[in-house]
Amino acid sequence: MSAEKPLAEIFVPARQGRGVFVGRGQLLDIIAVEGKQVGDLVAWNRAAPDEYMSPAHTVSCNASIRLKVGGRLFTNRRNPIFTILRDDVGKHDLIVPCCDPARFARDFGDPHHDNCLANLRQARDLLGLDYDIRGDLAWNVFMHNRVTEDGAVVTDMAQHPAGATITLRAEMDCVALLSACPQDLTPCNAFKPTPMKMVLRSA
Ligand SMILES: [Zn+2]
Repeated sequence: MSAEKPLAEIFVPARQGRGVFVGRGQLLDIIAVEGKQVGDLVAWNRAAPDEYMSPAHTVSCNASIRLKVGGRLFTNRRNPIFTILRDDVGKHDLIVPCCDPARFARDFGDPHHDNCLANLRQARDLLGLDYDIRGDLAWNVFMHNRVTEDGAVVTDMAQHPAGATITLRAEMDCVALLSACPQDLTPCNAFKPTPMKMVLRSA
């Protein structure tokens, strides 16, 4: 990582959401501060808010559900929005939506549980934006999901250490919102949600 002073450091408290404006060419580090933590990321094109990062389009453009260093995330218009420059974890999910009240109500009988959808709305509101936040727009960074031979989607226990980082280069001026996922009823966050951090750097 560059020794240069970051442009911004945004601490994302456990079970909460925060956002940041990212200029084209700038670098965004997403860090699991204590490790074993998943972040749910949504992003919009600043110049055209009807263009946003889309996990489904990313799968289609890459013809893969896996992301690699050098690989890209795409928008609903199939334009690249981020390129992955560094990835300490190498495990992410592009196929399930972020957690939401209906997930906790349906599967755990707890409609009032903290959830990523609410956190992403919190992050949006803190930046004074009015984007429509949808769970299916979230990329589940560091989520150890895998698809088995017979098509089951299995969430493995998070394994990544404190300080695990993914670095994204923005390919357009965008806004990124991150939820430190509050899921504590599956192995997703090793049953203990913890903080995350975003660090914005110049190229
Ligand atoms: Zn979540």
